[in-house]
Amino acid sequence: MTAQLPLLPDDTFQRILCVVAHPDDLEYGTSAAIAKWTDQGIEVAYLLLTKGEAGMPNPPHETAAIRRGEQEAACATVGVTDLTMLDHPDGMLVYSLDLRRDIALQIRRFRPDVVLTTAFDVEVSWGLNQADHRAAGLATIDAVRDAGNPWVFSEQVSDGILLPHSPKWLLVASANKPTHGIAVTVEHLNRGIASLKAHEQYLAALPWHPNPEEFMPPFFQEEGASIGAEYGIVFQAFDLGS
Ligand SMILES: [Zn+2]
Repeated sequence: MTAQLPLLPDDTFQRILCVVAHPDDLEYGTSAAIAKWTDQGIEVAYLLLTKGEAGMPNPPHETAAIRRGEQEAACATVGVTDLTMLDHPDGMLVYSLDLRRDIALQIRRFRPDVVLTTAFDVEVSWGLNQADHRAAGLATIDAVRDAGNPWVFSEQVSDGILLPHSPKWLLVASANKPTHGIAVTVEHLNRGIASLKAHEQYLAALPWHPNPEEFMPPFFQEEGASIGAEYGIVFQAFDLGS
């Protein structure tokens, strides 16, 4: 029997910034954790680097509008009202200083003690990772460091209105090597499932997509087992010690 993973000290968390490439990226399990966190009074903000405009058969400007509305509905199911969606090109997101600059700016504005992103490995549990996810995750881990350095993207802090900021934790969802977990209730789990179902038109355009009510509960049970809970979510957590 393998050793159980420790629980995240989320009773110490105050503000969590979630940085991902697309609408829906947080809705494959992570949003159940977010439901728990907002219930605890933790402020959670989402930064989506693209509008997901290349994800449906519709013309991109139509898709962007649909996905904005669906992401707002997904956020509402888990208690999130702070949603920012940037204009980086969906499907063609590039790791760049521009991307790091945009993420660092949001870290300096929101001043989270925790930054959460998704796995940036080439290969992940569900198969070959998508290019935008790799770029988003890598840019996020670098922007976490950038945000604390007054000499990096110094124009953001030169007038003293924004200040450098160093988050205390970096969490990676869907990581190949999870280190910590949190237990969630059935109510959190159901809100997580509802948040994915909020992407209604997007999912309708993916006829092969499994039913969230069928595929998600076993996923929460499996991750719960690794922390000794009925339902759970696991993360690779980096204690940045600041
Ligand atoms: Zn995605």
